[in-house]
Amino acid sequence: SLSIGIVGLPNVGKSTLFNALTKAGALAANYPFATIEPNVGVVGVPDPRLGALGKLYSSARLVPASVRFTDIAGLVKGASQGQGLGNQFLGHIRETDAICQVVRVFNDPDVTRVEGSAEPEGDIETVVTELILADLQTLEKAAPRLAKETKFTKDPEKLETAAAAQAAVAVLDSGKTLFAGAAGAGISLSALRELHLLTAKPFLYVFNMDVGELSDEGLKKQLEDLVAPAEAIFLDAKTEADLAELSDEEAAELLAEAGLGEPGLSQLAKAGFRALGLQTFLTAGPKESRAWEIPIGATAPEAAGVIHTDFQKGFIKAEIVSYDDLMSAGSVTAARAAGKARIEGKEYIMQDGDVVEFRHS
Ligand code: GDP
Repeated sequence: SLSIGIVGLPNVGKSTLFNALTKAGALAANYPFATIEPNVGVVGVPDPRLGALGKLYSSARLVPASVRFTDIAGLVKGASQGQGLGNQFLGHIRETDAICQVVRVFNDPDVTRVEGSAEPEGDIETVVTELILADLQTLEKAAPRLAKETKFTKDPEKLETAAAAQAAVAVLDSGKTLFAGAAGAGISLSALRELHLLTAKPFLYVFNMDVGELSDEGLKKQLEDLVAPAEAIFLDAKTEADLAELSDEEAAELLAEAGLGEPGLSQLAKAGFRALGLQTFLTAGPKESRAWEIPIGATAPEAAGVIHTDFQKGFIKAEIVSYDDLMSAGSVTAARAAGKARIEGKEYIMQDGDVVEFRHS
């Protein structure tokens, strides 16, 4: 499953959000909320398509795609130098697919700001600086090894990694993350993969706002521009905590009352999928209806491989109908009769919302 590390300065609302997200996921998606460690929660991604499919097929259970959130405490100024939880903290984010920084926008004199914290822009810079410094340390440590490895080799991959590592230092020295600055410097992030650099991961920003600020389009535009090209999400962690206590219907009512569109979990999961270039395909049957995540551009056999490696090896063909076509036809039989169910081969590029049955040997 997609894994997102939640970082941010102390007292910005990380734990409040983490608790709300994991609880909301357990309710909304009826997914067994798994606490692996106190700070790790795996939650189902709410997807209304799944419920509709489950009805159509009388599925015994629904299995949504999942996101794994890790609440990573301990980021303070100087973390890269071992302040706060220091290296332990950095080790935890190394393992995630994306980094989500929670930024405090809400005003509350009762909630103390950590020393030096004031405006979103400065807080973002503090956190990003720590991550940049950590990456520079990693690169510095790796440099002698890379130099040795490339001295007598013509292996194009090793040479590319070494060159990319050098170019990465220049990007980081200029104060940019690799996520934001690699493309402009002609660096391919895949060449750096073995170094597990933190700032090469996609960044998402959650702006934790007072509920009244959530309708301030001017403010939101300003914050969005501040973090572009990273994704910006706007929510109120306290409202999210309230939502997490409610049934789907009650939650929808509260969202409407507050003038909000979507709960934070859906927003975050969607942004995470976008940032990582993921999309969803669906399988359905009486046993279960299930959502699966695959990279955009994946082929039918690759999608089969997400379910089981044997399905990919023995792939013969796939019967595919888009979710919308299936729903308007009312059943697979009707979709077939209308020519909407297609038999696709090895070359087929999967589309978001494809409902699939694989044939394999
Ligand atoms: P963390 O240190 O980043 O994990 O922050 P917490 O989630 O523990 O929140 C710190 C304090 O801020 C707690 O007292 C929360 O109740 C409060 N808090 C969190 N989110 C909000 C918010 O959106 N609005 C307000 N007014 N208070 C919040």
